Amino acid sequence: MEHNFKMGTQKSTVVVTGASSGVGLYAAKALAQRGWHVVMACRDLPKAENAAKSVGMTPDSYTIMKIDLGSLDSVRQFVQDFRATGRSLDALVCNAAIYMPLIKEPLRSPEGYELTMTTNHLGHFLLCNLMLEDLKNSPASDRRLVILGTVTHNPDELGGKIPPQPDLGNFEGFEAGFKPPISMANGKKFEPVKAYKDSKVCNILTMRELHRRYHESTGITFSSLYPGCVADTPLFRNHYPLFQKIFPWFQKNITGGYVSQELAGDRVAAVVADPEYRQSGAYLSWGNRQKKEGKSFVQRVSPQARDDAKGERMWDLSAKLVGLT
Ligand code: NAP
Repeated sequence: MEHNFKMGTQKSTVVVTGASSGVGLYAAKALAQRGWHVVMACRDLPKAENAAKSVGMTPDSYTIMKIDLGSLDSVRQFVQDFRATGRSLDALVCNAAIYMPLIKEPLRSPEGYELTMTTNHLGHFLLCNLMLEDLKNSPASDRRLVILGTVTHNPDELGGKIPPQPDLGNFEGFEAGFKPPISMANGKKFEPVKAYKDSKVCNILTMRELHRRYHESTGITFSSLYPGCVADTPLFRNHYPLFQKIFPWFQKNITGGYVSQELAGDRVAAVVADPEYRQSGAYLSWGNRQKKEGKSFVQRVSPQARDDAKGERMWDLSAKLVGLT
């Protein structure tokens, strides 16, 4: 992405959240190979260092910085720390996520908010809003903000049909403050798998609202992608051990939706860096049954995720919860 290099000397800089494993790690590796400097925004610094080394990233191609997306204070501190490096920001990848399918009671952020929604959505919502300023200030002509989506956000797709399905309701839980006893966006009973899916719908609503509010005035490209079913990432570490064995096999041999971590990482890097993906407001997919040679296409998102009124309400209530005025 030559046009993004400044004065021919400084590399373009990308921040990738959750770059210590899975899709984020391989996206970091692929971006470093394309000549980017990758700020690996991670909660466990030694783990991130080992991960970077394990995939052969050269020391000058990355910087590891602390962020805990499950804590709003930590997100704010990260932004300050990033600014102190003096780097300009050319791209931001919101990738980190937790999936806790087996817990019976909600975990909580320091603010008291349910932790899956906080980590996957609210933390990233705050980060996007704060770092919009940094993206605006970058002298590069091509700046991008990419948020990871997933097929399970969308009950219209085969991969999204398995219950429980996401349902943000009218954000009654957000409106009521999202603290105990409330744990779900719609204020209803805690369901950990649904909390994950709800958070991923919020991710896509955030991307679409960012596009609607800021694309024209800033020229920044906002997009999301479903990189394929990366069934052997540690995302499923909190599932039954038997599920962790069967799921990759099932995706490889039955649905054909399986993609490797390397390929998923390459897809993220392409959406961040390649000219063909400079399309704001798009949700990109390679389909759920396509193999390596599969081509990407812009896919329609779920009815909830394409509901502009829902997007606005998500925005206003999330802004309140994260303390943005
Ligand atoms: P993963 O291997 O579990 O990676 C998740 C990353 O997020 C890890 O680096 C993890 O850090 C980090 N993280 C978790 N909580 C954090 C926190 N509070 N603060 C900072 N970082 C935190 O999962 P993955 O499969 O690569 O998933 C990455 C993204 O791809 C997610 O957004 C997911 O929804 C999306 N996605 C995955 C699939 C799939 O099939 N796997 C499919 C579609 C979309 P630690 O290393 O410290 O745990």
